[in-house]
Amino acid sequence: MAKSKRAFITGISGQDGSYLSELLLNKGYEVGGLIRRNAIGELGNIEHIKDDIKIYFGDLQSPESIALALLDFKPDEIYNLASLSSPFASFSDKFASIMITGVGALHVFERAKQIVPEAKVYQASTSEMFGVPKQVPQNEATPFSPANPYAAAKEFAHRMAVIGRLDRKQPQFISCGILFNHESPRRGLNFVTRKITAGVACIKNNKKEGIPLNEIGEPIVQNGKIKLGDLNAERDWGYSPDYVEAMWKILQQRQANDFVIATGEIHTVEDFVREAFATVGLDWKEYVVTDSNFVPPVQTGPLQGDASYAKKVLDWEPKTKFKDLVKIMVHYDLAKFS
Ligand code: NAP
Repeated sequence: MAKSKRAFITGISGQDGSYLSELLLNKGYEVGGLIRRNAIGELGNIEHIKDDIKIYFGDLQSPESIALALLDFKPDEIYNLASLSSPFASFSDKFASIMITGVGALHVFERAKQIVPEAKVYQASTSEMFGVPKQVPQNEATPFSPANPYAAAKEFAHRMAVIGRLDRKQPQFISCGILFNHESPRRGLNFVTRKITAGVACIKNNKKEGIPLNEIGEPIVQNGKIKLGDLNAERDWGYSPDYVEAMWKILQQRQANDFVIATGEIHTVEDFVREAFATVGLDWKEYVVTDSNFVPPVQTGPLQGDASYAKKVLDWEPKTKFKDLVKIMVHYDLAKFS
Protein backbone atom coordinates (compact mmCIF):
# COMPACT_ATOMS: atom_id res chain seq x y z
CA MET A 1 0.00 0.00 0.00
CA ALA A 2 1.25 3.51 -0.84
CA LYS A 3 2.57 5.48 2.14
CA SER A 4 0.22 8.27 3.24
CA LYS A 5 1.39 11.81 2.75
CA ARG A 6 2.20 13.75 5.89
CA ALA A 7 1.04 17.32 6.41
CA PHE A 8 2.20 19.56 9.25
CA ILE A 9 0.09 22.62 10.12
CA THR A 10 1.12 25.50 12.36
CA GLY A 11 -1.91 27.22 13.87
CA ILE A 12 -3.78 23.91 13.56
CA SER A 13 -6.31 24.83 16.26
CA GLY A 14 -7.35 28.04 14.48
CA GLN A 15 -10.27 28.43 12.07
CA ASP A 16 -8.43 27.40 8.89
CA GLY A 17 -6.12 24.88 10.60
CA SER A 18 -9.09 22.88 11.84
CA TYR A 19 -10.93 22.80 8.48
CA LEU A 20 -7.69 22.03 6.64
CA SER A 21 -7.01 19.12 9.04
CA GLU A 22 -10.45 17.67 8.31
CA LEU A 23 -9.90 18.03 4.55
CA LEU A 24 -6.48 16.36 4.68
CA LEU A 25 -7.63 13.53 6.97
CA ASN A 26 -10.43 12.85 4.47
CA LYS A 27 -7.81 12.67 1.72
CA GLY A 28 -5.87 10.03 3.70
CA TYR A 29 -3.07 12.28 4.97
CA GLU A 30 -1.37 11.85 8.32
CA VAL A 31 -1.79 15.22 9.98
CA GLY A 32 0.35 16.85 12.64
CA GLY A 33 0.38 20.36 13.96
CA LEU A 34 1.86 22.92 16.28
CA ILE A 35 -0.22 24.60 18.96
CA ARG A 36 0.53 26.95 21.80
CA ARG A 37 0.02 25.44 25.23
CA ASN A 38 -2.64 27.28 27.22
CA ALA A 39 -3.20 27.20 30.96
CA ILE A 40 -6.51 25.36 30.78
CA GLY A 41 -5.41 22.79 28.19
CA GLU A 42 -8.16 23.61 25.70
CA LEU A 43 -7.71 22.53 22.09
CA GLY A 44 -10.31 24.87 20.59
CA ASN A 45 -11.40 23.94 17.08
CA ILE A 46 -9.56 20.59 17.00
CA GLU A 47 -11.06 18.95 20.10
CA HIS A 48 -13.23 16.68 17.90
CA ILE A 49 -10.25 15.36 15.86
CA LYS A 50 -7.57 15.29 18.55
CA ASP A 51 -7.30 11.47 18.39
CA ASP A 52 -6.73 11.54 14.62
CA ILE A 53 -3.87 14.05 14.53
CA LYS A 54 -0.46 14.39 16.16
CA ILE A 55 -0.19 17.48 18.32
CA TYR A 56 3.10 19.20 19.10
CA PHE A 57 3.17 21.95 21.70
CA GLY A 58 5.36 24.85 20.63
CA ASP A 59 5.45 28.43 19.52
CA LEU A 60 6.41 30.21 16.33
CA GLN A 61 8.74 32.33 18.46
CA SER A 62 10.65 29.20 19.48
CA PRO A 63 12.56 27.88 16.45
CA GLU A 64 13.60 24.92 18.58
CA SER A 65 9.99 23.82 19.09
CA ILE A 66 9.41 24.00 15.32
CA ALA A 67 12.62 22.04 14.65
CA LEU A 68 11.75 19.29 17.16
CA ALA A 69 8.29 18.84 15.67
CA LEU A 70 9.63 18.70 12.09
CA LEU A 71 12.39 16.26 13.06
CA ASP A 72 9.84 13.92 14.59
CA PHE A 73 6.97 14.29 12.08
CA LYS A 74 9.00 14.61 8.83
CA PRO A 75 6.19 16.16 6.77
CA ASP A 76 5.86 16.21 2.97
CA GLU A 77 3.76 19.38 3.17
CA ILE A 78 3.90 22.25 5.68
CA TYR A 79 1.09 24.78 6.04
CA ASN A 80 2.20 27.84 8.00
CA LEU A 81 -1.11 29.18 9.27
CA ALA A 82 -0.07 30.37 12.74
CA SER A 83 -0.22 34.12 13.28
CA LEU A 84 -1.80 36.80 15.40
CA SER A 85 -4.50 37.11 12.81
CA SER A 86 -6.42 40.24 13.84
CA PRO A 87 -5.42 43.42 11.95
CA PHE A 88 -7.33 45.52 14.54
CA ALA A 89 -5.58 43.90 17.53
CA SER A 90 -2.16 44.22 15.87
CA PHE A 91 -2.15 47.95 16.64
CA SER A 92 -2.10 47.22 20.37
CA ASP A 93 0.81 44.74 20.19
CA LYS A 94 2.95 45.67 17.22
CA PHE A 95 6.04 43.82 18.44
CA ALA A 96 4.21 40.51 18.93
CA SER A 97 2.77 40.87 15.42
CA ILE A 98 6.18 41.34 13.89
CA MET A 99 7.85 38.59 15.94
CA ILE A 100 5.12 35.94 15.50
CA THR A 101 3.46 36.69 12.17
CA GLY A 102 6.62 37.94 10.44
CA VAL A 103 9.78 36.50 12.00
CA GLY A 104 7.91 33.36 13.13
CA ALA A 105 7.13 32.51 9.51
CA LEU A 106 10.81 32.88 8.63
CA HIS A 107 11.65 30.44 11.46
CA VAL A 108 9.29 27.93 9.83
CA PHE A 109 10.88 28.40 6.37
CA GLU A 110 14.43 28.09 7.71
CA ARG A 111 13.79 25.05 9.91
CA ALA A 112 11.95 23.37 7.04
CA LYS A 113 14.92 24.06 4.74
CA GLN A 114 17.34 22.44 7.20
CA ILE A 115 15.26 19.49 8.33
CA VAL A 116 12.87 18.58 5.48
CA PRO A 117 14.30 20.37 2.42
CA GLU A 118 12.02 18.48 0.02
CA ALA A 119 8.84 19.49 1.85
CA LYS A 120 6.48 21.88 0.08
CA VAL A 121 5.62 24.92 2.21
CA TYR A 122 2.41 26.97 2.13
CA GLN A 123 2.53 30.50 3.56
CA ALA A 124 -0.74 32.12 4.66
CA SER A 125 -0.46 35.54 3.04
CA THR A 126 -3.34 37.99 3.16
CA SER A 127 -5.28 40.58 1.17
CA GLU A 128 -4.49 42.96 4.05
CA MET A 129 -1.05 43.34 2.40
CA PHE A 130 -2.82 45.43 -0.29
CA GLY A 131 -3.78 47.91 2.45
CA VAL A 132 -5.18 50.93 0.69
CA PRO A 133 -4.94 49.39 -2.77
CA LYS A 134 -3.85 51.18 -5.88
CA GLN A 135 -6.24 49.11 -8.00
CA VAL A 136 -9.60 47.39 -7.57
CA PRO A 137 -9.95 44.42 -7.81
CA GLN A 138 -6.55 43.18 -6.62
CA ASN A 139 -4.61 40.35 -8.24
CA GLU A 140 -1.13 38.80 -7.92
CA ALA A 141 0.44 41.83 -9.65
CA THR A 142 -1.14 44.50 -7.42
CA PRO A 143 1.52 46.34 -5.35
CA PHE A 144 1.41 45.86 -1.58
CA SER A 145 0.84 48.84 0.69
CA PRO A 146 0.12 47.46 4.17
CA ALA A 147 -1.80 49.74 6.53
CA ASN A 148 -1.54 47.86 9.85
CA PRO A 149 1.21 46.02 11.78
CA TYR A 150 -0.36 42.63 10.96
CA ALA A 151 -0.19 43.33 7.23
CA ALA A 152 3.37 44.67 7.49
CA ALA A 153 4.44 41.45 9.25
CA LYS A 154 2.64 39.34 6.64
CA GLU A 155 4.33 41.28 3.85
CA PHE A 156 7.72 40.54 5.42
CA ALA A 157 6.88 36.81 5.59
CA HIS A 158 5.58 36.89 2.02
CA ARG A 159 8.75 38.52 0.72
CA MET A 160 10.95 36.01 2.61
CA ALA A 161 8.90 33.19 1.04
CA VAL A 162 9.57 34.61 -2.44
CA ILE A 163 13.29 35.04 -1.62
CA GLY A 164 13.43 31.40 -0.41
CA ARG A 165 11.84 30.32 -3.69
CA LEU A 166 14.36 32.29 -5.78
CA ASP A 167 17.45 31.13 -3.84
CA ARG A 168 19.89 29.96 -6.54
CA LYS A 169 21.83 27.62 -4.24
CA GLN A 170 18.96 25.90 -2.46
CA PRO A 171 15.59 26.94 -3.91
CA GLN A 172 12.73 26.13 -1.59
CA PHE A 173 9.17 25.26 -2.60
CA ILE A 174 7.25 27.97 -0.76
CA SER A 175 3.90 29.01 -2.21
CA CYS A 176 1.80 31.86 -0.89
CA GLY A 177 -1.96 31.99 -0.88
CA ILE A 178 -3.02 35.64 -0.79
CA LEU A 179 -6.39 34.96 0.79
CA PHE A 180 -9.14 37.52 1.10
CA ASN A 181 -11.33 37.47 4.21
CA HIS A 182 -12.91 34.12 4.93
CA GLU A 183 -15.22 33.34 7.78
CA SER A 184 -17.10 30.47 9.41
CA PRO A 185 -18.63 29.49 12.75
CA ARG A 186 -15.02 28.83 13.85
CA ARG A 187 -13.96 32.44 13.30
CA GLY A 188 -12.70 34.16 16.46
CA LEU A 189 -15.26 36.30 18.30
CA ASN A 190 -12.98 39.32 17.99
CA PHE A 191 -13.63 39.53 14.23
CA VAL A 192 -16.48 41.70 12.98
CA THR A 193 -18.43 38.97 11.16
CA ARG A 194 -18.50 36.58 14.11
CA LYS A 195 -19.15 39.44 16.52
CA ILE A 196 -22.24 40.28 14.46
CA THR A 197 -23.56 36.71 14.22
CA ALA A 198 -22.93 36.00 17.92
CA GLY A 199 -24.59 39.32 18.79
CA VAL A 200 -27.62 38.58 16.60
CA ALA A 201 -27.96 35.18 18.29
CA CYS A 202 -27.76 36.66 21.81
CA ILE A 203 -30.38 39.33 20.91
CA LYS A 204 -32.74 36.86 19.22
CA ASN A 205 -32.41 34.39 22.11
CA ASN A 206 -32.90 37.22 24.63
CA LYS A 207 -29.73 36.08 26.36
CA LYS A 208 -28.89 37.85 29.60
CA GLU A 209 -25.89 35.89 30.88
CA GLY A 210 -22.86 34.26 29.26
CA ILE A 211 -22.70 36.84 26.47
CA PRO A 212 -19.29 36.54 24.74
CA LEU A 213 -16.79 39.42 24.83
CA ASN A 214 -15.85 41.63 21.89
CA GLU A 215 -12.39 42.70 20.70
CA ILE A 216 -11.97 45.24 23.52
CA GLY A 217 -13.19 42.89 26.25
CA GLU A 218 -16.77 44.18 26.64
CA PRO A 219 -19.91 42.02 26.22
CA ILE A 220 -20.81 41.90 22.52
CA VAL A 221 -24.37 42.95 23.38
CA GLN A 222 -24.84 45.80 25.85
CA ASN A 223 -28.28 47.29 26.57
CA GLY A 224 -29.63 45.25 23.69
CA LYS A 225 -27.20 46.77 21.14
CA ILE A 226 -24.06 45.70 19.28
CA LYS A 227 -21.30 48.31 18.91
CA LEU A 228 -19.58 48.32 15.52
CA GLY A 229 -16.92 50.46 13.83
CA ASP A 230 -17.20 51.57 10.22
CA LEU A 231 -20.34 50.15 8.62
CA ASN A 232 -19.13 51.28 5.19
CA ALA A 233 -15.90 49.22 5.33
CA GLU A 234 -15.87 46.95 2.28
CA ARG A 235 -14.60 43.37 2.17
CA ASP A 236 -14.62 40.30 -0.04
CA TRP A 237 -15.92 37.56 2.27
CA GLY A 238 -15.69 33.83 1.54
CA TYR A 239 -16.19 30.62 3.50
CA SER A 240 -13.17 29.04 5.20
CA PRO A 241 -13.83 25.39 4.16
CA ASP A 242 -13.80 26.53 0.50
CA TYR A 243 -10.53 28.40 1.06
CA VAL A 244 -8.60 25.56 2.73
CA GLU A 245 -9.29 23.51 -0.38
CA ALA A 246 -7.42 26.18 -2.35
CA MET A 247 -4.48 25.89 0.09
CA TRP A 248 -4.23 22.18 -0.61
CA LYS A 249 -4.50 22.71 -4.37
CA ILE A 250 -1.71 25.30 -4.20
CA LEU A 251 0.68 22.71 -2.74
CA GLN A 252 -0.24 20.10 -5.39
CA GLN A 253 1.31 22.28 -8.13
CA ARG A 254 4.68 21.41 -9.65
CA GLN A 255 6.01 24.93 -9.21
CA ALA A 256 5.79 27.25 -6.23
CA ASN A 257 3.89 30.47 -6.90
CA ASP A 258 1.53 33.09 -5.46
CA PHE A 259 -2.25 32.84 -5.81
CA VAL A 260 -5.01 35.30 -4.96
CA ILE A 261 -7.98 33.45 -3.45
CA ALA A 262 -11.23 35.43 -3.27
CA THR A 263 -14.89 35.47 -4.25
CA GLY A 264 -14.59 38.66 -6.32
CA GLU A 265 -17.76 39.98 -4.63
CA ILE A 266 -17.58 43.00 -2.38
CA HIS A 267 -19.94 43.78 0.52
CA THR A 268 -20.01 46.37 3.27
CA VAL A 269 -20.17 45.61 6.98
CA GLU A 270 -23.70 47.06 6.78
CA ASP A 271 -24.63 44.42 4.17
CA PHE A 272 -23.40 41.72 6.56
CA VAL A 273 -25.34 43.20 9.49
CA ARG A 274 -28.56 43.57 7.46
CA GLU A 275 -28.34 39.99 6.22
CA ALA A 276 -27.57 38.58 9.67
CA PHE A 277 -30.53 40.34 11.34
CA ALA A 278 -32.82 39.48 8.39
CA THR A 279 -31.99 35.79 8.98
CA VAL A 280 -33.78 36.02 12.34
CA GLY A 281 -36.50 38.40 11.13
CA LEU A 282 -35.21 41.55 12.87
CA ASP A 283 -34.45 45.07 11.59
CA TRP A 284 -30.75 45.73 12.22
CA LYS A 285 -31.24 49.49 12.69
CA GLU A 286 -32.85 48.89 16.09
CA TYR A 287 -29.88 46.90 17.42
CA VAL A 288 -26.66 48.41 16.05
CA VAL A 289 -24.76 51.51 17.17
CA THR A 290 -21.49 52.79 15.77
CA ASP A 291 -18.56 53.55 18.04
CA SER A 292 -15.23 55.00 16.90
CA ASN A 293 -13.37 52.72 19.38
CA PHE A 294 -13.92 49.94 16.86
CA VAL A 295 -12.50 51.83 13.89
CA PRO A 296 -8.82 50.94 13.37
CA PRO A 297 -6.29 53.82 13.51
CA VAL A 298 -5.54 53.28 9.82
CA GLN A 299 -8.27 51.89 7.57
CA THR A 300 -7.73 49.45 4.72
CA GLY A 301 -9.74 48.77 1.62
CA PRO A 302 -11.65 48.49 -0.54
CA LEU A 303 -10.44 44.89 -0.70
CA GLN A 304 -11.88 42.92 -3.60
CA GLY A 305 -9.97 39.99 -5.07
CA ASP A 306 -9.54 38.83 -8.62
CA ALA A 307 -8.96 35.06 -8.36
CA SER A 308 -8.97 34.39 -12.10
CA TYR A 309 -5.40 33.01 -12.02
CA ALA A 310 -6.35 30.48 -9.30
CA LYS A 311 -9.48 29.54 -11.24
CA LYS A 312 -7.38 28.85 -14.33
CA VAL A 313 -4.37 27.11 -12.78
CA LEU A 314 -5.88 25.43 -9.70
CA ASP A 315 -9.38 24.88 -11.08
CA TRP A 316 -10.60 26.43 -7.84
CA GLU A 317 -13.84 28.35 -7.33
CA PRO A 318 -15.59 29.47 -4.16
CA LYS A 319 -18.75 27.40 -3.63
CA THR A 320 -20.48 29.31 -0.84
CA LYS A 321 -22.31 32.55 -1.60
CA PHE A 322 -22.31 35.57 0.72
CA LYS A 323 -25.93 35.14 1.91
CA ASP A 324 -25.37 31.44 2.64
CA LEU A 325 -22.19 32.22 4.59
CA VAL A 326 -24.09 34.66 6.82
CA LYS A 327 -26.89 32.13 7.38
CA ILE A 328 -24.44 29.32 8.28
CA MET A 329 -22.82 31.54 10.91
CA VAL A 330 -26.07 32.90 12.37
CA HIS A 331 -27.65 29.43 12.66
CA TYR A 332 -24.55 28.06 14.37
CA ASP A 333 -24.52 30.92 16.87
CA LEU A 334 -28.28 30.67 17.55
CA ALA A 335 -27.61 27.16 18.87
CA LYS A 336 -24.35 28.05 20.64
CA PHE A 337 -25.65 31.13 22.46
CA SER A 338 -29.08 29.83 23.35
P1 NAP B 1 -6.85 32.02 13.51
O1 NAP B 1 -8.17 31.32 13.70
O2 NAP B 1 -6.58 33.24 14.32
O3 NAP B 1 -5.70 30.96 13.73
C1 NAP B 1 -4.37 31.34 13.95
C2 NAP B 1 -3.70 30.29 14.80
O4 NAP B 1 -2.34 30.69 15.03
C3 NAP B 1 -4.36 30.10 16.16
O5 NAP B 1 -4.56 28.74 16.38
C4 NAP B 1 -3.30 30.65 17.12
O6 NAP B 1 -3.26 29.99 18.36
C5 NAP B 1 -2.04 30.36 16.36
N1 NAP B 1 -0.92 31.14 16.90
C6 NAP B 1 -0.92 32.46 17.21
N2 NAP B 1 0.28 32.80 17.70
C7 NAP B 1 1.04 31.69 17.69
C8 NAP B 1 2.37 31.41 18.09
N3 NAP B 1 3.17 32.37 18.61
N4 NAP B 1 2.85 30.16 17.95
C9 NAP B 1 2.06 29.19 17.46
N5 NAP B 1 0.78 29.38 17.07
C10 NAP B 1 0.29 30.63 17.19
O7 NAP B 1 -6.67 32.46 11.98
P2 NAP B 1 -7.32 31.80 10.67
O8 NAP B 1 -8.51 32.60 10.29
O9 NAP B 1 -7.41 30.35 10.84
O10 NAP B 1 -6.21 32.15 9.59
C11 NAP B 1 -5.14 31.24 9.29
C12 NAP B 1 -3.97 32.02 8.71
O11 NAP B 1 -4.39 32.67 7.52
C13 NAP B 1 -3.44 33.11 9.64
O12 NAP B 1 -2.05 33.20 9.44
C14 NAP B 1 -4.13 34.36 9.13
O13 NAP B 1 -3.37 35.50 9.44
C15 NAP B 1 -4.16 34.07 7.64
N6 NAP B 1 -5.26 34.69 6.92
C16 NAP B 1 -6.54 34.63 7.39
C17 NAP B 1 -7.55 35.22 6.68
C18 NAP B 1 -8.98 35.14 7.16
O14 NAP B 1 -9.80 35.93 6.68
N7 NAP B 1 -9.33 34.23 8.05
C19 NAP B 1 -7.27 35.89 5.47
C20 NAP B 1 -5.96 35.90 5.01
C21 NAP B 1 -4.95 35.30 5.73
P3 NAP B 1 -3.96 30.59 19.67
O15 NAP B 1 -5.36 30.04 19.62
O16 NAP B 1 -3.12 30.07 20.76
O17 NAP B 1 -3.93 32.08 19.56
